[in-house]
This record gives sequence, C-alpha cells and structure tokens, in this order.
Amino acid sequence: MARLQPVRGTHDVLGDKAIRFRTIYEKFKSVAERYSHQEIDTPIFEFTETFKRTLGDTSDVVTKEMYTFEDRGGEQVTLRPEYTAGIARAFMSNGLQQSAPCKFYSFGPMFRYERPQKGRMRQFHQMDVEILGVPEPQADIEVIALGSDLLDELGIGKHITLELNSLGDPESRSLYRDALVSYFTGFKSALSEDSLQRLDKNPLRILDSKDEGDRALIENAPRIFEFYNDATRNFFNAVKGGLEALSIKYVINDRLVRGLDYYCHTAFEFTTDQLGAQGTVMAGGRYDGLMEMMGGPPTAGIGWAAGMERIAELISADQLINPGRPVVVTPVGDSAQTVAMKIAHDLRRDGIIVDMSYRGNVAKRMKRANKQNATFAILIGDDEIARSVVMVKNLDLGSQEEVSFSNLCQYIRNAQK
Ligand code: ATP
Ligand code: MG
Repeated sequence: MARLQPVRGTHDVLGDKAIRFRTIYEKFKSVAERYSHQEIDTPIFEFTETFKRTLGDTSDVVTKEMYTFEDRGGEQVTLRPEYTAGIARAFMSNGLQQSAPCKFYSFGPMFRYERPQKGRMRQFHQMDVEILGVPEPQADIEVIALGSDLLDELGIGKHITLELNSLGDPESRSLYRDALVSYFTGFKSALSEDSLQRLDKNPLRILDSKDEGDRALIENAPRIFEFYNDATRNFFNAVKGGLEALSIKYVINDRLVRGLDYYCHTAFEFTTDQLGAQGTVMAGGRYDGLMEMMGGPPTAGIGWAAGMERIAELISADQLINPGRPVVVTPVGDSAQTVAMKIAHDLRRDGIIVDMSYRGNVAKRMKRANKQNATFAILIGDDEIARSVVMVKNLDLGSQEEVSFSNLCQYIRNAQK
C-alpha cells in the first residue's frame, strides 16, 4: 500500500502557510525589482560536479546533505542545495559576461538531507539575490540594503540583527588561515572529528562548528581583523560607511565566516532571537573567486539567500496579503444551474472572485459561504430567472436585495470597493 505521509523533512504548503509564502514572495519580487534585479530561474537539478566544485569537499552540504543520484542515462545529478552555483553556471552557460553587471533574483525549493527539526527541513524554500560582475563595495551595500528593506517591509526588521564581518582580500585571508592552522594544530586532540578534517582543507570553517568542545577552543583563536591589510580595511570601511549612510544598523561579528576559498571581503547574516536555535534568516557574502574556480572568466560576485520557512514564522498576521473575499453563486433547483453558471462566468470575467455552491439545502450552503468569508451569496431560483433578477444576500449585514442580471457585476463591484 502506498504510504500517505509526506517524506520526512518535507511539507505541504497550503492554507495559512501558502498565504505567508505568497506575502513574502510578492514583497520580495517587488523589492528586488526596485533594486533593478531581474528574475532568473535555474533548473532544480544540475550536474553534481557544479555543486561539488563550488561548495568544496569539506562543506556540510557536500559531505552530508546533497540529494545526489544517477539518472537513467548514467549522469550524476544533484537536487540543488543552494542557488549560487546554479546561477553562476547559468551566467557562464548563457555567455552573460558580455552583459555584466547582472543582477538576479530567484525563489524556489532547495534540497538538503538534514536532520529535520523546527526551521530545518529537507525540502525548504529560499529567496536569493546575486550581483555578478561588480567588484566595488557598492554592490555589497546594495544587496544588504535590499535584504534589510525586505525584512522591514515584511514588518520583521525590528526582530532582526545584521551581523557583519570581512573575510579580507586573498592576502589577509591567507595570513589568517595560516594563523588558524597553527593555533588549532596545537589542540588537535581536542578538536571534533569534523573540525580535524577541516584543519587542512578549510580551517575557517572550524569557526562555524557547532560542537561544544570546538566552541571552547574557538573562543581563544586568533581574530581575523588582526590580519587585515590596507586593501581589506579600505573595502570594509567603504561597506560600513555605506550602511551607515543608509541608516542600516549592524553589529560586527568577527567569527562569522564562509569557509570556502573563493569567499572574500563581506560576509553577513541577518539573525533573530525569536526562532530558537535556527535563528539565521538570511545569509550572504562576496565570492569574487567563484567564477574562475568554476572554469569561467574572473567575475566578481555577491549575494544572499534567505530561508522562507523561517521568515514565514516571524511575520505577524496583519502583514499578510489578503487574498480577497469571494461571492458565492447559489443556484436553487436543477433548472437554475445553467443560468447560475453563466452568472458566475460573467462575474469572474469582470474580475470578481466567485465560488459556486454545488449542493445541499440553502441553510447549509449559507453556512458554508459564511465559513468561506464570502461577502455575498447570490441566490438564483426559477422565480428569479423568470424575472431576470437574482437575490443578493449581504452576509456581513444579513440583509438582502434583488438585483437585475444586467446590473449584477456593477452592483458587486461597487459593494466590494
Ligand atoms: P545553518 O547554519 O542554519 O545550517 P547554512 O549556513 O547551511 O545555515 P545557508 O546555506 O547560508 O545556510 O542558507 C541560507 C538560509 O537558508 C539560512 O540562513 C536559512 O534561513 C535557510 N536554510 C538553510 N538550510 C535550511 C533548512 N534545511 N531548512 C530551512 N531553511 C534552511
Ligand atoms: Mg546548513
């Protein structure tokens, strides 16, 4: 027998959740377009290589979380765990170097084999923005401002802190990397297994470790700002200055890292204390080395991704878009069916939300119409048809009125204004 449960870590988006998602998505689209970003939609699966190369062999995503399979033609493919790799691939496959800078936004499902818990799913949804081909700090400021505007316009900015760091240019970063390696090498026996693996390949990622033993060691590890050169400091000052000019508040978190080598300069997260352990709602950074590492021409990049499910939890009910209230067309008796259908059709073509009431006694049908939060019930029986009128019941006031066929659309439109 088929199992009727959804797969662990997946969920259906319906009812209130669907309205929350739509509220977020529509706001996102509107804010992103105001920043002159263009919509892009990349495939839900790519060659496994695309993610492996960009995310690196030691990232949690690649080592533990990817949904990878061989398709019928023997290709290794992976359900996308994140957006950046696919968008960077699309930039190159479509020869967009010619049209750089490119600004994109996207929204859709992501797949990671994680331990499901509150705010952590196996199929979840991200909004994503990327700016490709702008090495200037203005792009960093703009993508952060875009994120900040979005959260403000969703009414949740007050619950959220922007944490900011600079990972430095390649020189600063490599000095820091060496310092971390020599520090953590001194504590090899105390490091968690994961962190031990990262020590050679990806020592910055150790700072991201959630292991308690690691956390204690991380406390006393060297700090990245001790290794900043002038170029790094200037870039970071420009970003901070820009944010201040736009009155965007931030706190510096010098432990905030993105582990991979192609990340540089700005790294940031928007976090909240309202969601328990899964408090990061939006995370991003600059990845100037990525495109080259994927085999393309050197192209600067910066972007962020935000978790829809986490943001959906934060929005208060009064921020949600109102999907609109229906009118319910209610034929009384078999012979009224066709006329009722025609009236519903006309109303719909006129832009009015209409539901049909199919069966049952009138009292029951009115009860259901009220439950649907309908504004009006439009009753049509033989007697009304004979006179080319309908009975319009105002479900808020309990009053009713006869309206002629020809005036109906106008009547409903005026009443719903
Ligand atoms: P975490 O440290 O929480 O695992 P991450 O570094 O893996 O986060 P990113 O890859 O930066 O997360 O993804 C950006 C955002 O996507 C996160 O800040 C979060 O809001 C959301 N997100 C990531 N993984 C999940 C998931 N499994 N379920 C729901 N949302 C997620
Ligand atoms: Mg993760």
